[in-house]
Amino acid sequence: MKIKKNFAVLLLMLVAFSANVMTAQQMPPIPMDEAVRVGKLDNGLTYYIRHNDYPEHLVNFYIAQRVGSMQEEDNQRGLAHFLEHMAFNGSEHFKGNGIIDYVRTLGVAFGADLNAGTSFNYTVYHVNNVPSTRQSALDSCLLILKDWSHGLLLEDEEIDKERGVIHQEWRTRPYQKRMLENMLPAMYPDSKHGQRMIIGLMDIIDNFPYQDLRDYYHKWYRPDNQALIIVGDVDVDYTEAKIREMFKDISVDPNSPKVVPFEVPDNEHGIFFVNTDKELTVNYITTYFKHDAIDNELKSNVNYLIVGYMNEMLSSMLSARFNEKAQEPDCPFIAAICSDDDYLIANTKDAFTIQCYPKDAKTEDALQAVLTEVKRAKQFGFTATEFARAQEEYMSELEARYNERDHIDNSTLGMACVNNFLENEPIMSIQTEYELMNQIVPNIPFEYINQGLQQLLNQYVGETDRNLVVISNEADRDNAKISTPESLKAAYERAVSANVEAYVDNVKQEPLMAKLPVKGKITGEVENAKLGYKELTLSNGAHVMLKKTDYKQDEIIMLAIRRGGKSLYGKEDLANLKMMDQFNSMKKLGGFTKNELSKALAGKQVYASYVIDHYTNGVIAQSTVKDMETMFQLTNLMFTDLGKDEQAFNKVMTQQAEQLANQASNLDAIYQDTIANTLSDHNWRFRALKPEDMQQVNYDRLMQIAQESTANAADYTFIIIGSFDEQAVRDNIEQYIASLPAKKGKKSDWANISSYPAGHVTNRFAAKMETPMSKVSVVWFDDKTPYSFENNIKANILGNVLAKVLTQKIREDEGATYTLMAQGLSSNNGDKPLTMVEVDCPLKPEFTEKALSIINGEMVNACTSIDPGTIKDIKENLIKNFTANAKVNQYWVNILMHKCLFDLDIHNGWEEIINAQTSETISAFARQLLNGGNKVEIVMTPQD
Ligand SMILES: [Zn+2]
Repeated sequence: MKIKKNFAVLLLMLVAFSANVMTAQQMPPIPMDEAVRVGKLDNGLTYYIRHNDYPEHLVNFYIAQRVGSMQEEDNQRGLAHFLEHMAFNGSEHFKGNGIIDYVRTLGVAFGADLNAGTSFNYTVYHVNNVPSTRQSALDSCLLILKDWSHGLLLEDEEIDKERGVIHQEWRTRPYQKRMLENMLPAMYPDSKHGQRMIIGLMDIIDNFPYQDLRDYYHKWYRPDNQALIIVGDVDVDYTEAKIREMFKDISVDPNSPKVVPFEVPDNEHGIFFVNTDKELTVNYITTYFKHDAIDNELKSNVNYLIVGYMNEMLSSMLSARFNEKAQEPDCPFIAAICSDDDYLIANTKDAFTIQCYPKDAKTEDALQAVLTEVKRAKQFGFTATEFARAQEEYMSELEARYNERDHIDNSTLGMACVNNFLENEPIMSIQTEYELMNQIVPNIPFEYINQGLQQLLNQYVGETDRNLVVISNEADRDNAKISTPESLKAAYERAVSANVEAYVDNVKQEPLMAKLPVKGKITGEVENAKLGYKELTLSNGAHVMLKKTDYKQDEIIMLAIRRGGKSLYGKEDLANLKMMDQFNSMKKLGGFTKNELSKALAGKQVYASYVIDHYTNGVIAQSTVKDMETMFQLTNLMFTDLGKDEQAFNKVMTQQAEQLANQASNLDAIYQDTIANTLSDHNWRFRALKPEDMQQVNYDRLMQIAQESTANAADYTFIIIGSFDEQAVRDNIEQYIASLPAKKGKKSDWANISSYPAGHVTNRFAAKMETPMSKVSVVWFDDKTPYSFENNIKANILGNVLAKVLTQKIREDEGATYTLMAQGLSSNNGDKPLTMVEVDCPLKPEFTEKALSIINGEMVNACTSIDPGTIKDIKENLIKNFTANAKVNQYWVNILMHKCLFDLDIHNGWEEIINAQTSETISAFARQLLNGGNKVEIVMTPQD
């Protein structure tokens, strides 16, 4: 689209008076992406169809409903979500669990690819990643959408079975949902939003009359509230004709009620609310400045893009200031970020929102500090250098997306259509967005935009506490200092009356590397045809595995890796080794602090991180083609110029101490730590960090570990994968990798540090919890059989078999659990292999022992007989996933890493190995695992 001549002038006026941007009607409409076919049937059903070939030969199907829990009556609270569950429990063409069983035969897994979500205003169902090989399968997926739209059976017996599942979902809901439930009435005092938590009321879930659910379904699930979205490898004309034929006969009663938006009233005075929970791990304060949402009709206009751009600039610059402030040692908050968004769950109200993580017991000071920054920006605006960075960042992200325009996946494109239907968000091609923004952004002088942004911020954040909402979420541990609404209000008032000075932007005006290193050479080269890479030897002894791909247009990944890791250090470094996981947040690189570096890298799409695990360490980095040299420089500095940043270190330590203090009441953390301890036979390396360990942390020692682990480049292999230019990458390798310091001699290796318990070990314990539930884990393992790709596949299949039968028995038949997880894998822990199959399941407490006996019984059953149909479906799914993964750069990082660390090819032959599996091979594998005699059982029950 070409912008007209007077456009730029108009634009400047709009930006300078941004408060009026959305009322100005002169701007052109946003052109809709031509690749999307949109249509509507006479009965009101909307459809979107789009052909797309990324990933290849797969199709996504969605049905979006413009209704959610907000449409429930008082006697139906929880039924919008209940209905979503019932969509998988019997419909006209798919009786019982027929939908789940049918899509399994296509290699589509329930949960991952077949699923649904209910929100306050919407409900969206999907069947994703359906192979396009057979048209009849695609037609059947349309039939599933049709059944969802209007063919659910909602039978008495199936409803009764699902009550328990949903009750379990409520029981095992994370504390975040409990806290949400608690704060909604405070946030929405005079609107229905406060009373429509999605999970609903358990009294209703357990007892509602069948008809209440059917009423909701028939009243709201109608073609005029629904859209079908089909994206992927489809014939658009055929699909459109098919939809028209299949859905045309569904009629709508002309007297049906309309879906009306629920308004959120303004609050005349500030709302201050303290939300406490015993299991909260990190305290945070959310401050909302409510304002009117943009009308859906206005979103199709270019104005909307400009407002979006300005909001992004505002949030990005203010968040950067928060981030810089947080580095100061006496700053009362650890981090803060802002954005303009929906007022949490309302689609009729927006809010400029600031989320802030206070340091321990500094809630009020933290709130005051972030609000003072807001006042500073309101009063003085931003600086030209801040804006230049924010703009560069925006443009470089846009360009990176534009460069990948042929690799936009079905999910991204599908969700754009869903959002168009539900929220009238524009469906714009990346080409259009790129061209438009390239005409708009560089044409706005800084003075104009700064004035506009200041006005925008003043419009969001008024002079009084009208429409202000502050929610402080605080962990209610013993002796914790909890704030009060009054103390929060006082903090707000202190910020309002604070004297502020203009922000000064300190930028380190130095190049990343002052002097380039002396170039080394590529001294040897061999090709590995089987895995399609070249192995280069460098003059300093380092190795490079180079694999050029076209899976992405503009993506390069580099992993520098060596054997070693934490295994090289002993128990005296316990605390230091744990803290090494956060080394990236506490270092200087090339003399730059984290904040200086982020300013220096503004507008570049690149990162590099130091990584260390038990057996390996190195650097992982990624960039676009344009920023490849910066990626090499950052990686080089990681080997040559790591330095101390005391401020950053202290910040990490404060943060860590607080997290550990809260962890004592966090059930997930307690449970995970128990599993790790039991499974490692109480090996100190695998236990969680404790508050008392913190005194042992030594910053000098952390630096020493990092520096000695990167001292010798000859230990390392640099895996480089992506869409690089061959000559450019070789130049960079010689300049930045072959030049790294190295020593002659033996390469580094790992030590064997793993340990496992022998025989059967049971660990039962009781824990205090807010909502009583129990949890069991059963792990069968074998540490004698060597690691192989084949064992890994067998373990994986066995895990999937158990997941299927146990979900049927414990969830579907008994309603005793909501999520049951079963998985199997084989791995190499250094030179100590481990093959295992694990079942984890949160439960209704009274069902604990029965569940254990079912889990153990099904493992015994798997040793003698497994349904061949189940094996066939699982293989179908594995083959589909491998086929797609083989065209992803990250997959190849893993393949080449196995090659360089273990000299194993875990790619070639995968299809034959999967195809060779049968009920017999998996039963034999189960017998071997069971007869090995190693098993761990963890049982957690509620404490009275
Ligand atoms: Zn659910």
